[in-house]
Amino acid sequence: MAYVIGQACIGEKRGECVPVCPVDCIHPTPDEAGYASAEQLYINPDECIDCEACKDACPVNAISHEEFLTVDLQRFIEINAAFYR
Ligand code: SF4
Repeated sequence: MAYVIGQACIGEKRGECVPVCPVDCIHPTPDEAGYASAEQLYINPDECIDCEACKDACPVNAISHEEFLTVDLQRFIEINAAFYR
């Protein structure tokens, strides 16, 4: 199980979530290649430890645990995972 970044991040990419993640599993970060062209930021589901720090840090409420996503946002589980393949 993991947290997921959803629709509200698209076009925002504010990045407050990046420094609070204890396992550095949110990418691309502003200093990484691909940041400018990325639609949003993504959480690596294989590394996320469900600490919830990113959810509280996000200024646009874009982050939810995958178990609590509304039906219209469940596609972001795959969208986040696909970024890391
Ligand atoms: Fe990182 Fe914690 Fe957010 Fe998972 S829940 S992405 S470990 S800050």
